[in-house]
Amino acid sequence: MTIILNNNTYKYETEATVKLFIPAVRFEFLSDERNSDGDIIMTRIKHCRKNVYYYAYIRENGRVMRSSCTAPAESFDEKDGEFIICRLLFLLLCRFYNTKPQWGLLTGIRPVRKINVMLENGMNEEQVRKEFTGKYFVSEKKTDIAWRTAMVQHPLLPEFDKKTVSIYISIPFCPTRCSYCSFVSHSMDSAYKLIPDYLDYLCKELEILGEIVNEYGLKIDTVYYGGGTPTSISADELGKIMRKTAECFDLSKVREYNVEAGRADTITEEKLAVIKEMGATRISVNPQTLNNDVLRVIGRKGTAEEVLEAFALARKLGFDNINMDLIAGLPTDTFESFKDTLDRIIALDPDGITVHALTLKRSAGLYQTGHENISNPATRMADYAVSELIAHGYDPYYMYRQKNTIDGLENIGYAKPGKGSLYNIFIMDETQTILGAGCAASTKLVDVNNSISRVMNYKFPYEYIRRFDELMKKKDEIRNFFE
Ligand code: SF4
Repeated sequence: MTIILNNNTYKYETEATVKLFIPAVRFEFLSDERNSDGDIIMTRIKHCRKNVYYYAYIRENGRVMRSSCTAPAESFDEKDGEFIICRLLFLLLCRFYNTKPQWGLLTGIRPVRKINVMLENGMNEEQVRKEFTGKYFVSEKKTDIAWRTAMVQHPLLPEFDKKTVSIYISIPFCPTRCSYCSFVSHSMDSAYKLIPDYLDYLCKELEILGEIVNEYGLKIDTVYYGGGTPTSISADELGKIMRKTAECFDLSKVREYNVEAGRADTITEEKLAVIKEMGATRISVNPQTLNNDVLRVIGRKGTAEEVLEAFALARKLGFDNINMDLIAGLPTDTFESFKDTLDRIIALDPDGITVHALTLKRSAGLYQTGHENISNPATRMADYAVSELIAHGYDPYYMYRQKNTIDGLENIGYAKPGKGSLYNIFIMDETQTILGAGCAASTKLVDVNNSISRVMNYKFPYEYIRRFDELMKKKDEIRNFFE
């Protein structure tokens, strides 16, 4: 499929709108239709003296549909022009494909952030709902879950304080790679040898960040160990990094300390004991599904039984805030199997359950097989999760969307009252500075009026190790920010 942007430059938003209907496809872009005989989607803007003409067109397998509208030329501005053309295209594609994406025209990854901004601007519930459903064509159902989520997280959003920050620490290794994975994680096979050096450099980076934190009198609010799978390293290695974290930062005022234990096949009593001893307050044990056949299909090592054992072990060691991640839409999973997984997880009574929707990223092995291999009732699964989890006392407290997600679905974190992850809220609402350490970690510096600047670490462990000194020079940007 070719996308033709005729007399306009709205490439990013046009592509995002088209992907609501045709996900996981790479498009070719042209500015003129003359050389294209195949399937095309075209948008065109024409400025005349009094009016601006907007035009959208699709031709696929010989079938053609078009739509147009006008607006007064005197009031034209680029932002409005972009919105009008995307809206026109969206409605055209709804007719052409005889479907209506549930999130309507909203292509951003943070629908709840959008609500928070509307509330900050003085809008009330009725106005927010009207804007979602009327202007962006979001379904009543999605508007409702976004509103609920905003209301749960609203009291947890911090007052802006430039000197209160969170810390993210990346352990980018996994014992093996799951086929749907799009993270920068490195299987132990290929990266095993790098782990000792990586951890040494990570310790050095924590020392440097610790100096910055002390120098500018920053307060640490939350800590998050993510990856990869932090528990894929040994108990000793985990202890070393967590001790270094405690040495470098004053953790006495930390409100939440997360470790994404992740895969059950990496969790041992010894590692959980270290995590507990070092002060973690919240961990994740992530099954994704309790169907062993589906686990095999998605190449995720470990079994449902190991998940149940890891969960029981964590409870035995006294963890009172455990989150479990699930994925709706996994290949070969059925509604009945998803329902069975969710029902069994609810019966375990974890403190949080996060329901993701399968995302097809180009970097994931699954992407290569094409989305035709992945057909299942993901929407029905996600709908079931919303109603069951709310009925069992889990509140939706954070939400985000990704591109190329099956059925255009969202990811939602649910938790029992008081058990939602503050870090997850902060990262999505972008209201607090996050200092990132380790490879692929990004530091997000949040200033007044929500202006954000980023300092990115290198993506791969070997690059992080090899170019460490160069990378640390970039930390001056953090110093400059707090000057
Ligand atoms: S455990 Fe998570 S990060 Fe690791 S390979 Fe699987 S999906 Fe990717």
